[in-house]
Amino acid sequence: MKTDTCVTYDVLRQIAFSMGASLFGVADLDRIREDTDLLNPCYDAYSRGISVGVTLDEAALAGIVDGPTPEYCREYIRVNAVLDSIARALAEAIERIGASAVRIPASEVVDWERLRGHLPHKLIGRYAGHGWIGRNILLVHPHFGARVRYVTVLTDLPLEPDSPTERSCGTCMRCVAVCPAGAPKEDPKRFDLRACFNKLAEFNERLDEPHFICGLCVSACRGNKTGEKGGAT
Ligand code: SF4
Ligand code: SF4
Repeated sequence: MKTDTCVTYDVLRQIAFSMGASLFGVADLDRIREDTDLLNPCYDAYSRGISVGVTLDEAALAGIVDGPTPEYCREYIRVNAVLDSIARALAEAIERIGASAVRIPASEVVDWERLRGHLPHKLIGRYAGHGWIGRNILLVHPHFGARVRYVTVLTDLPLEPDSPTERSCGTCMRCVAVCPAGAPKEDPKRFDLRACFNKLAEFNERLDEPHFICGLCVSACRGNKTGEKGGAT
């Protein structure tokens, strides 16, 4: 396999944006392995993680007042479908030039009680430079906040990686104020997963949809455009 990694990065980015992506970045998986134990060893053959984000439609978020709405649920499903199509196209493009790729579906959550997928998209997204893990324990983009969903494609293609941002939530506490379960705290390490999960289960019954969604701290999170550092990371 012989590729110009810059050209390949740009080609893959172009494919993603032509299909509706809002964000594209590449994480160095070896750096994640050095920093954390969060990458499953079953992905050891891959050195890069492509993270693609698609923003949620403002109109679908506007109706969220005290819990998820059918409009938000439809938007959640629509965006996941767009992300999965993009991931498929990227994987096929990578395989055409002789490299390997594996797609991690946008909505995959293996462990609902700990709200974790087999591979956390937010981890790859953070190392791909999209943002930081906020007080709502979501990936927070400086401009789009948490109003973005992500998909991941792992590959052994030696793409030039992006770098994580040093930004943070700073003094923002919007998600802390809006959460009906009291789950987000000033210190993100104290996020109450059990309280959040119980609230999602309550919403799940009310919504009558096979998704555990809420939307309140997603809708409230508009990032931190000032570049403030400190506070949550
Ligand atoms: S998803 Fe809902 S319940 Fe969970 S932290 Fe966000 S606002 Fe709270
Ligand atoms: S709402 Fe504010 S405090 Fe909460 S995650 Fe977003 S930027 Fe951070």
